[in-house]
Amino acid sequence: MAMGETTYVNSVREQLLAGRERLSDVLAGHESEQMLRLLAEVDSALHRIEHGSFGVCEVCAGEVPSEVMMENPLARVCLECLTPKQQRALEYDLELAAQIQKGLLPPTDVAIAGWEISYLYQPAGMVSGDYCDVIKDDGQLNFIMADVSGKGVAAAMLASNLRAVFRSLIPLRLPVEELMVRANRLFRESALPNQYATLAFGRTSNHGKLELANAGHLPVLLAGKSGVITFESSCKPLGFFSDEQVHVVRAVVSPGDTVVLYTDGISEASNADGEEYGVEALRKLIAEQHPTCCPAKLVQACKQRLAAFRGTMERADDETLLAIQYAPAL
Ligand SMILES: [Zn+2]
Repeated sequence: MAMGETTYVNSVREQLLAGRERLSDVLAGHESEQMLRLLAEVDSALHRIEHGSFGVCEVCAGEVPSEVMMENPLARVCLECLTPKQQRALEYDLELAAQIQKGLLPPTDVAIAGWEISYLYQPAGMVSGDYCDVIKDDGQLNFIMADVSGKGVAAAMLASNLRAVFRSLIPLRLPVEELMVRANRLFRESALPNQYATLAFGRTSNHGKLELANAGHLPVLLAGKSGVITFESSCKPLGFFSDEQVHVVRAVVSPGDTVVLYTDGISEASNADGEEYGVEALRKLIAEQHPTCCPAKLVQACKQRLAAFRGTMERADDETLLAIQYAPAL
């Protein structure tokens, strides 16, 4: 189907027009061949929108999949109609992007600021829209689990942007509420109008203090002696709210308690019968494993259980899970 006069096409038109304005400004100051070529491509995409041929392959007249158009509104041909040289260039770019993204992951199976950390990170494709991070600052440990809307390169770019936002804001030592409001503002500035991110942010001290903000993300699990507690989302995802108040939950944890964060690639993994793994199954597994388990073993157990549940089904979404356990030096 060629993309018609939808909200999406309208938002693409807006983006292209805004991009065109920025390009013209740059060109006014400094004329460059590359910029002129880009401007011509933007104009050509705007022309295709006006004439109803946006999303139609110029070679085979077939439909360019909407995922491709969402990632690159300047695309003119479907993947099958790219020349072998263009295909190789695309593969090379993706491999490079995947390598860069892996390099941005935090260290795993380490202890930082009195907390033991382990995580699982399995993208469904070459690159991932999940963002998982642990950042030590001034004796405190900050951790983030986020899932950017959409898939592929566009989601991965925004996930990298989110990392830069948090890595720049954390050293400012703002209260968690203010940090979230600022992160949301910065995220909105770089995201496309239809992009958003669900995100859980936590900050812990080496005295076991825990602060949590959950912006539209799946419940955060806290496994302790009396079972597994859940912290549900208390505000809208990033990109959805303007400057409203963020609700932060505060708790004091005991040595051995473990915080578990994950993305919907874990909870919504499905098997051949079309059943969903679910948050409850994850919660049960953590409750079973927790009392005697370190984060590395817990993550391993989750990985094995998930693989067994999925069986022959392919991974449909990025799977990311982070476990951090309060283990103060005695
Ligand atoms: Zn084609």
